[in-house]
Amino acid sequence: MLRLPMFRYLQPRTLAEALRMKSDAGPEGMFVAGGTDLYPNMKRRHQEPRTVISLMGIPELGRSDGLTVGPCVTLTELAVRPSGRPAVIGKAAALVSTPLLRNMGTLGGNLCLDTRCNYYNQGYEWRKSIDFCMKKDGKICWVAPSSPRCWAVSSSDVAPVMVAIGAEYRLVGPQGERVVPAARFYHNDGINYLTKQPDEILVDVRLPAPDGWDAVYHKLRRRGSFDFPVLGVAVWIEWNGKNVADARVVLGGVASYPQEIPEAKAALAGRPLSDETIAAAAEAAYRPSKPMDNTDFDLSWRKQMTRVYVTRAIEELRARRR
Ligand SMILES: Cc1cc2nc3c(=O)[nH]c(=O)nc-3n(C[C@H](O)[C@H](O)[C@H](O)COP(=O)(O)OP(=O)(O)OC[C@H]3O[C@@H](n4cnc5c(N)ncnc54)[C@H](O)[C@@H]3O)c2cc1C
Ligand code: SF4
Repeated sequence: MLRLPMFRYLQPRTLAEALRMKSDAGPEGMFVAGGTDLYPNMKRRHQEPRTVISLMGIPELGRSDGLTVGPCVTLTELAVRPSGRPAVIGKAAALVSTPLLRNMGTLGGNLCLDTRCNYYNQGYEWRKSIDFCMKKDGKICWVAPSSPRCWAVSSSDVAPVMVAIGAEYRLVGPQGERVVPAARFYHNDGINYLTKQPDEILVDVRLPAPDGWDAVYHKLRRRGSFDFPVLGVAVWIEWNGKNVADARVVLGGVASYPQEIPEAKAALAGRPLSDETIAAAAEAAYRPSKPMDNTDFDLSWRKQMTRVYVTRAIEELRARRR
């Protein structure tokens, strides 16, 4: 049985208190929300905080006010109570894992989720038997041994949607407050996958008004429940009548960040959504989609599925517009 290591658990009631506790704990302190990612990771010694600071007792982080959503809102809440939010948010939240994990797991935890890899998401003894890897305790990347970087995969279902719809994240840290577009919150690096500093707290997510646009999210996984995405496709379209005024196609599960595909946007923008336009956008997304051999399924099949899933996602948006 995997056991949690000993740690100190703190439960601040205000943001200022949480920031102070993190400053006191230094690099050995970490924030936790639902704990559905952090605690299993601690059991496998991926993260080893001596002090864990819960954000769940801070009332303002659990509030949702129309298009401003607190990070401690659970995935279940997002999925079952849309409350004026764009429907795609609830749809993506409903595709995360299982009902039990969605009851505990939060929006903030999902957007800050650790990257994943078959050589990393293993117990300590397993990882030790291969002399670990670059992401934690080791020197080499077993997926690409000559690579200077880690290729662990962004595996959040909601993050690609936030990038696609152009959401913004408000962060508060010891240096003050800043608002970043969702796309700039993520790095294509399996180790440094967030631009957020460890002592910054994601305090709310600002969604765009549902005004003249529509978006969908499609997920590929082995089982219909439980499994992380091995491919996620989020598509956002701003309409001008029946024509596409602007678009974003974002892939999850194929890189260390939600990967926006500018070539797919170029194939869609300014055009009616004909079969040819959709095929061109799917082809444009297929080419830069480069899954690595470090999650489920054969990687060349996952790459092929990019074309299929992008086609299906855009066709769904077209059918809704008719
Ligand atoms: C079996 C299993 C299956 C899963 N399947 C999926 C899946 O299909 N899709 C998917 O997307 N996820 C999946 N997950 C991962 C996870 O359950 C969800 O992503 C969940 O939303 C994480 O939220 P949490 O509140 O539990 O995060 P936590 O574990 O509490 O935190 C995760 C990380 O985010 C940081 N963090 C949390 N909130 C904040 C904040 N407000 N500010 C700053 N940092 C913060 C924490 O410090 C930690 O580093 C799965 C997990 C398990 C165990
Ligand atoms: S991609 Fe390489 S360095 Fe990163 S977790 Fe996997 S094996 Fe480790």
